[in-house]
Amino acid sequence: MADFDFASRIIDIPDYPEPGVVFKDITPLFADAEAMRCAVEAIAKPFQDAGITKVIGPEARGFMVGVPVALELGAGFVPARKPGKLPRETVSVNYELEYGTDTLEIHADALGAGDRVLIVDDLVATGGTAAATGKLVREMGAELVGYGCILELAFLNPRPLLEEDGSVRFVSLVQVQ
Ligand code: 5GP
Repeated sequence: MADFDFASRIIDIPDYPEPGVVFKDITPLFADAEAMRCAVEAIAKPFQDAGITKVIGPEARGFMVGVPVALELGAGFVPARKPGKLPRETVSVNYELEYGTDTLEIHADALGAGDRVLIVDDLVATGGTAAATGKLVREMGAELVGYGCILELAFLNPRPLLEEDGSVRFVSLVQVQ
């Protein structure tokens, strides 16, 4: 499984969603049953004995990865959503984008002390989305155990931000150098 060819199932889309950006389209990987199963297992495996109680996935591709990883780990799933999408009381975090800022919200009662949390997404670029979600997890009194993703844009160097002093584990299946 470690040498599964995930990369061939991710398609580069030049100039999407705007000129100069190369978008990584992970939908072919999800359309391939074996690739999807291997990806979910490979993200979950390093955290199998970590006592994860909740997996968080940021909207929207984080839902696609997060729910099956949560099932694999025997953990619950908690969505982190764009403002105004969750129906009950929320806690929120603002974070910097390349241009401007964004916000994610989690239901206020979804996490608490005693929870051990894994944050997953399809892709980590700068690490800003993942790190902001991690900040929210800690503000809610839960323990941040790690991050998992399919694709890491390693040339943007997100690893030091996410691993902090080495106490948080960051797992990616494909690294783009
Ligand atoms: P970051 O916050 O690490 O800079 O960006 C990661 C977030 O942006 C993730 O939620 C991810 O889904 C989304 N994202 C950014 N660029 C891409 C891309 O090229 N392909 C995909 N699938 N998602 C992207």
